[in-house]
Amino acid sequence: MKEYDFLIVGSGLYGAVFAREMTNAGKKCLVIDKRAHTGGNVYCENIDGINVHKYGPHIFHTNSKEIWDYVNSFVEFNNFVYSPLANYQGRLYNLPFNMNTFYKLWNIENPGEAEKKIQDQISASGIVNPVNLEQQAITMVGKDVYELLIKGYTEKQWGRKAVDLPKGIIKRLPVRFTFDNNYFNDRYQGIPIGGYNRLINGLLSGVEVRTSVDFFKDRDNLSKMADVLVYTGKLDEFYNYKFGCLEYRSLRFEQEKLNVPSYQGVAVINFTDGIIPYTRVVEHKHFEFGRQEYTIITKEYPQEWSLGMEAYYPINDVENEKKLNLYNTLAKNERKTIFGGRLAEYKYYDMHQVIAAALMKTKKMKRS
Ligand code: FAD
Ligand code: UDP
Repeated sequence: MKEYDFLIVGSGLYGAVFAREMTNAGKKCLVIDKRAHTGGNVYCENIDGINVHKYGPHIFHTNSKEIWDYVNSFVEFNNFVYSPLANYQGRLYNLPFNMNTFYKLWNIENPGEAEKKIQDQISASGIVNPVNLEQQAITMVGKDVYELLIKGYTEKQWGRKAVDLPKGIIKRLPVRFTFDNNYFNDRYQGIPIGGYNRLINGLLSGVEVRTSVDFFKDRDNLSKMADVLVYTGKLDEFYNYKFGCLEYRSLRFEQEKLNVPSYQGVAVINFTDGIIPYTRVVEHKHFEFGRQEYTIITKEYPQEWSLGMEAYYPINDVENEKKLNLYNTLAKNERKTIFGGRLAEYKYYDMHQVIAAALMKTKKMKRS
């Protein structure tokens, strides 16, 4: 008889939801995290009353009432709607691509004219079956929007030419012929009132958690403590990189406190010109409608990733997918280990998808 039913490596959303659900089912869980705090990438640091999204801006959105009700059972969400702007060479455009964007770009007020303009550009490009991100983007919005608002941002974000990137990355973005600046199409969205840590603390309430514990520093002993291991760290690291590294894109954040009540008047501005080295500027107080006399901003610089750095965005190109398949073949044969979350599945997951995956897994386990 082992001390715990589950050892959960990682206290991000996957690990926290898993721990909550299995604890509710009467199982004993131990959660460890190598970071000094819980929450994984949704962690916020409260600085002078402003919740600073330490690992990049996080906006919760979902179409699922079940997921929305689930997160709201731990913390109430506010009515924040994500409507970022794009700054291209000092001019501001609305995102996602919608009639406000097209009006600013071409002075076109009419949806039919905007559709025709874009359709003409798509036809002129001659692209029928897009095979890469550049082609996919042009067939969604035409060449003008691609050149101003996508190419520069994408190439610095990913450190690769848009023609060398998988087309799936850009399919996330809505294109609309209405004057609607809501970045997401989902029915529900918002920010936890009081910040994401309240969601994580609710999920982990009553669960034993140890932070600053790296699984790989004491793998054998930790593994012996529980019947089942739930692993949410990097999949390739679990197998000692035997098929090579799964590659990521990393980020560097530059944070500043400024003595003005509002620096940019909106939570996020994307800088879409390739010359400016950062991709976006985040002004954290706007996520929670802060009324402070000061503000905190973060400039987000994409950077090349190498082993030992924080892994942010998986690069799901052909080479990495090949390696992923090899690792997955091993993972599928593990009897006492569950792999979940964005690092262990090497997936460009949003928060609601990670929660849904953990809920699905735990539901299945409760039934068996
Ligand atoms: P993580 O949050 O990464 O948690 C994994 C945890 O495991 C970490 O805490 C890590 O320290 C720990 N760990 C790893 N290895 C070990 C080890 N060896 N020992 C112990 N602990 C270990 N999603 C949205 O829905 N909306 C957004 O606006 C949004 N914005 C994003 C912005 C950025 C810049 C990024 C990178 C992601 C964004 N996401 C967003 C995605 C979101 O962050 C993820 O879907 C979610 O946080 C993933 O949860 P997770 O538990 O899978 O992973
Ligand atoms: N993108 C872009 N310009 C923008 C915003 C996004 O070209 O102003 C592209 C870019 O390739 C990015 C992808 O769309 O990687 C997905 O954007 P999203 O905002 O979903 O990125 P994330 O939230 O994952 O950082």
